[in-house]
Amino acid sequence: MNLPALLASLDARAHAAADWGKVASYIPELARVDPAQFAISVVLADGTLHSAGQSQTRFSIQSVSKVFTLACTLSRIGESLWSRVGREPSGDRFDSILLLEQEQGRPRNPFINAGALVTTDELLSGRAPREALSEILGFIRAAAGDDDIHIDGEVAASEQATGFRNIALANYLKSYDNLKNAPEMVLGTYFHQCAIEMTTEQLARAGRGIAGLPGAPLLLSPVKRRRIAALMMTCGHYDGSGDFAFRTGLPGKSGVGGGILVAVPGVASVAVWSPGLNAWGNSKVGTEAIEQLAHETGWSVFG
Ligand code: GLU
Repeated sequence: MNLPALLASLDARAHAAADWGKVASYIPELARVDPAQFAISVVLADGTLHSAGQSQTRFSIQSVSKVFTLACTLSRIGESLWSRVGREPSGDRFDSILLLEQEQGRPRNPFINAGALVTTDELLSGRAPREALSEILGFIRAAAGDDDIHIDGEVAASEQATGFRNIALANYLKSYDNLKNAPEMVLGTYFHQCAIEMTTEQLARAGRGIAGLPGAPLLLSPVKRRRIAALMMTCGHYDGSGDFAFRTGLPGKSGVGGGILVAVPGVASVAVWSPGLNAWGNSKVGTEAIEQLAHETGWSVFG
């Protein structure tokens, strides 16, 4: 397999796309992003990095951050998280409140917004938001081996000003006693973690540990990384999780900024970015590129 040529062909194919999808419009800063952009980066087990497209462009990782926050929270409090958050796909929109009422304030999984708010609440554990955020950023920087990874304050402020559904979810969780900290504190931390910006090169490097690549910084036990990857597979694309698993055979986590982090266990860590989204709120062209990559390489957790 000639990986550089394959990635270049994915970039060319992306730019030939007649339909890039629609950028997220509910966060004003993201609504301004040009959808006609593409980048892909792959780190292989031998440590080599291969990229095509705008792999040096920083984008808002949004919900991809939930993977790293979950890793930090599990490392900090362990299995007790699961008494407050489930591990089942929701089959529902990422910001849905529906199941939360049916299931008495226990979110279905840590990747839907309600579940991520509870996970962030646990990470706070009475600490100042600054401390929890520096733990998340520290984890990502160590995982990527790169300190030049930061939070875009304008994106965070933009979501803080308009994130009424998340505000509703946090208050609803609090009403069920499933938030320990004040809703504003959890929301402020969550909006800032979502506003971390990275390039696909940085994100692919940061995903090496979850993909279990040799030589990745040892930040997660094998059990934790397998469990996080299992949740990415079953819940990483919200109500489009089944479709992503069917098309790619790989665990992935998307964000409304158009990024997707994909783990090919023991083989590769992949990050793709294209800001236009499909109907489920996942990168349209990014998903197509991962589908094509899996098809051409034969990469799949199903052998
Ligand atoms: N910050 C976004 C929100 O909470 C993240 C959603 C996503 O990336 O899917 O709405």
